[in-house]
Amino acid sequence: MIISTKKGTPQVEIDRIIDNFERQGLSVTLIRGTDYNVFGLVGDTTKIAEKDVLANPWVENVTRVSAPYKRANRLFHPKDTVIDVRGVKIGGDAPVVVMAGPCSIEGEAHTLKMAELVKAGGANFLRGGAYKPRTSPYSFQGLGTEGILDMVKARELTGLPIVSELMDETHIDEFEEYVDVVQIGARNMQNFQLLKAVGKMTKPILLKRGFANTIEEWIMSAEYIMAGGNEQVILCERGIRSFEKYTRNTLDLSAIPVIKDKTHLPIIVDPSHATGDYKYVESMAIAAVAAGADGLEIEVHDNPPCAWSDGAQCLKPDKFRDTIAKCRKVAAAIGRAM
Ligand code: PEP
Ligand code: MN
Repeated sequence: MIISTKKGTPQVEIDRIIDNFERQGLSVTLIRGTDYNVFGLVGDTTKIAEKDVLANPWVENVTRVSAPYKRANRLFHPKDTVIDVRGVKIGGDAPVVVMAGPCSIEGEAHTLKMAELVKAGGANFLRGGAYKPRTSPYSFQGLGTEGILDMVKARELTGLPIVSELMDETHIDEFEEYVDVVQIGARNMQNFQLLKAVGKMTKPILLKRGFANTIEEWIMSAEYIMAGGNEQVILCERGIRSFEKYTRNTLDLSAIPVIKDKTHLPIIVDPSHATGDYKYVESMAIAAVAAGADGLEIEVHDNPPCAWSDGAQCLKPDKFRDTIAKCRKVAAAIGRAM
């Protein structure tokens, strides 16, 4: 971190600044200019917020040289993190994984049927929401525990590990017991209390990107989980909000190479919530695989017009199977198994 002070800063203030950083365990190098002084801070500056330094009226400028995240940072962990979920690996050179299923869990019979259909189409995981974050309080809110238990039955039937969204700390024990991958949704990406709580879980966390968050804020949320002790974080790009109206969100494909550059964590892509329209899901799934995504999360429904949520973006099982077949060809072309 590099800090410069204003012209005419008294020596007593300069000494105070140096002393303050040294007490925080940092080594401080002072470069004296005729008008300005520049400080170089070396050490773990992750605890220092630029804004707090700027609160000192004698400070002119603060520039961060290293990233504010440590555990997620590729610099300190050059090897890709590979997460193992019941024998299915995600990240590194592992084959591209597919998480698929309905937006909401819709009862036992439907869940078992959907699990078999997505497995036949190439899925390695069954996804489904039992606790749903809905924009309207009058919309269907999910089946809750009943939905989680429907997914457990589907896992027993098909062997597919299950992915479901956790919205509230009060359900942590239930998820710890039954769910294989705990999804934190876009709306909760900066629910720091929830992030701290899942940082204590033993299950991998699928952290979706908030629709108005920068990649750095997203990585900082992963850092929250990792700082709690849970290093098993999978990131999921699901589109960000832009001025565009023809798609539900704008898929930020560039997040894939950026995340791979800055972090060692696996990244998957959700083309369903990114586009909001079943017609565009296939092309964005193919593009995500081409760009190096470690996996896909896709909404699939056997009867989309009657889906309990997000029908407009659900693929029918046949289309899903075709999409995955095309993605496999693209994966092969870039030397990746799928
Ligand atoms: C979901 O995957 O069901 C979901 C609600 O996604 P997001 O949090 O990305 O909107
Ligand atoms: Mn959905």
